[in-house]
Amino acid sequence: MEPEEYRRRGKEMVDYICQYLSSVRERRVTPDVQPGYMRAQLPDSAPMDPDSWDDIFGDIEKIIMPGVVHWQSPHMHAYFPALTSWPSLLGDMLADAINCLGFTWASSPACTELEMNVMDWLAKMLGLPDKFLHHHPDSMGGGVLQSTVSESTLVALLAARKNKILEMKLSEPDADESSLNSRLIAYASDQAHSSVEKAGLISLVKIKFLPVDENFSLRGETLKEAIAEDRKKGLVPVFVCATLGTTGVCAFDNLSELGPICVAEGLWLHIDAAYAGTAFLCPEFRLFLDGIEYADSFAFNPSKWMMVHFDCTGFWVKDKYKLHQTFSVNPVYLRHPNSGAAVDFMHWQIPLSRRFRSLKLWFVIRSFGVKKLQAHVRHVSKFFESLVRSDPLFEIPAKRHLGLVVFRLKGPNCLTEKLLKELSSSGKLFLIPATIHDKFIIRFTVTSQFTTREDILQDWNIIQHTAAQIVSQNYEKGGVRNNKQHLEL
Ligand SMILES: *Cc1c(COP(=O)(O)O)cnc(C)c1O
Repeated sequence: MEPEEYRRRGKEMVDYICQYLSSVRERRVTPDVQPGYMRAQLPDSAPMDPDSWDDIFGDIEKIIMPGVVHWQSPHMHAYFPALTSWPSLLGDMLADAINCLGFTWASSPACTELEMNVMDWLAKMLGLPDKFLHHHPDSMGGGVLQSTVSESTLVALLAARKNKILEMKLSEPDADESSLNSRLIAYASDQAHSSVEKAGLISLVKIKFLPVDENFSLRGETLKEAIAEDRKKGLVPVFVCATLGTTGVCAFDNLSELGPICVAEGLWLHIDAAYAGTAFLCPEFRLFLDGIEYADSFAFNPSKWMMVHFDCTGFWVKDKYKLHQTFSVNPVYLRHPNSGAAVDFMHWQIPLSRRFRSLKLWFVIRSFGVKKLQAHVRHVSKFFESLVRSDPLFEIPAKRHLGLVVFRLKGPNCLTEKLLKELSSSGKLFLIPATIHDKFIIRFTVTSQFTTREDILQDWNIIQHTAAQIVSQNYEKGGVRNNKQHLEL
């Protein structure tokens, strides 16, 4: 492809993207395909001679789109939102063209410096403490963009582990690092994301998942007891991952109770605010941040709710030297005249290479401005909640926080399971389940920036209609009158 053709094809692609996103609500949200559906449509091996761009472009609608889940559809309510926006798409278009690898300052100074400045902006926008800023006289910390919250949790745990092992070596200089590692233990609530468990699997640090209170929140007393019990067994507590906005019901761990315990006991406090972090753009939601002053690190995904498309995870640390002591390698070919004087983000992460991700974040923050981003957060799922509450067949088994409503049909779990199954097979909307205690629930989030009241009403009508049928069928069978009888059906 020559530059002139790229210019023409690029414009066609922008037109296609614009058309796709503007009319995405008309597409079936989940595809109607079976595993392996693509095999018959593709040749067995790659073409030896070039395919024409017309053929390649034509295959998007023929081969790709039939197997796509339309995450930007207003009828997508599964998982958490993965929003995008026009300025964000433009940011990556430019970053992809520059395609620099910003591992050191010298490898592309603008890549490192824009990231440092935008991460400071973002920290201030959320009301994070000064210790997380690059540019502040009292700060030894700063923010960096990682690919995911999973990776950030792992990075935090690896840094905590390294630091604790160095501490242990002071009194046991001859001990082997792997045997010290085997005595470490970390904590999270039993509502924490699976990525915390994965970080434990990779680092070989044991993780204990602690019970939560009636609001699904991890409390100080529970942590304190676990630490005392583990110290008695000769284990060395090292790390706590607190969640702000859990995946199941969007619950919040109690930072102001957990924080002082972590400080007193010498544990690294990491905060996973993957989804809910965006809410802290609004001062009225910052009560959940009480205790943030105790945190060693904090991560959230602008790629979820803040309309910066994947991948973009903000990760801040209080002490960047703890990352350096974990990740620093210093081969000759990566040294530069400003080594040491400038920030080299390769020491803050696992991979060497890194994309110019801050461009899309910068474009989004500037094109919306803080006020419009705040307004976007305030436009949450109250409307859907009020619809569910108006129908006596349904219940909301956990308080709504931010944009996540969880609901179920009153009565045995099988009713809600059947409802979800029928809704899913229609392809008209996409929802996923969770369980709280023994209750089967359905999660509902608004995941598109194009969602209107009419879209939500339309989806609610489908849910309500399907539910009414299930309940009346069940009633005919005598199911709801007697649970025991129901189990025998
Ligand atoms: C989405 C989510 C994650 C995982 O985020 P990735 O960036 O995909 O790793 C972790 N924790 C919580 C609470 C989440 O909601």
